Amino acid sequence: MACGASNDLCLECGLCCNGVIFADVRLESGDDAGLLRSLGLPVISANASLRPGVGEPNRKSKISRPRFQQPCAALDGCRCRIYADRPKYCREFECLLLKKVQAGLVETAAARRVIRATLRRAEEVKRLLRKLGDADEQSALSLRFRRMKQRMESGIPDAENAEMFSRLTLAVHGLNLRLGEAFYPRPGKG
Ligand code: SF4
Repeated sequence: MACGASNDLCLECGLCCNGVIFADVRLESGDDAGLLRSLGLPVISANASLRPGVGEPNRKSKISRPRFQQPCAALDGCRCRIYADRPKYCREFECLLLKKVQAGLVETAAARRVIRATLRRAEEVKRLLRKLGDADEQSALSLRFRRMKQRMESGIPDAENAEMFSRLTLAVHGLNLRLGEAFYPRPGKG
């Protein structure tokens, strides 16, 4: 992930570290889990069970590789506090928008507009989650939405909450479309 001093765009974005694009980051060979922990990343060991609130709440299986949750504990504004020592995946990841800017296919000003519009969409999702009673800013948006969906499906929400949840579902859908188009196309989607 590119939150570093080297790129002004990344310093205005943070979407790849703040729990909007990714729910977690897996460590890869060569990453030193002990060092990363000592730098403040709460790395979960391989074979640990995920607890509700730090992963998929109903998931029974153990994780296969060490990982740490997003939003990242090392994110400070849009800057990575441990930039020089960040894990391999973070070093190698560049979003589609950044690649297009680097290739001269998108102008920086246009990229800034895309970033601002996407951040606004993410804020709208958070606002609706808060209205529905979820103020857990320590969990990724995708996880928070799944939990809310389970909550709604496990009971009969009143009309106001049902309407709010419809708006949330639409907002999440719009955000995911935007992320897939501009930042991080899922495999098979080009
Ligand atoms: S370690 Fe740094 S680059 Fe990696 S997710 Fe955290 S803030 Fe982003």
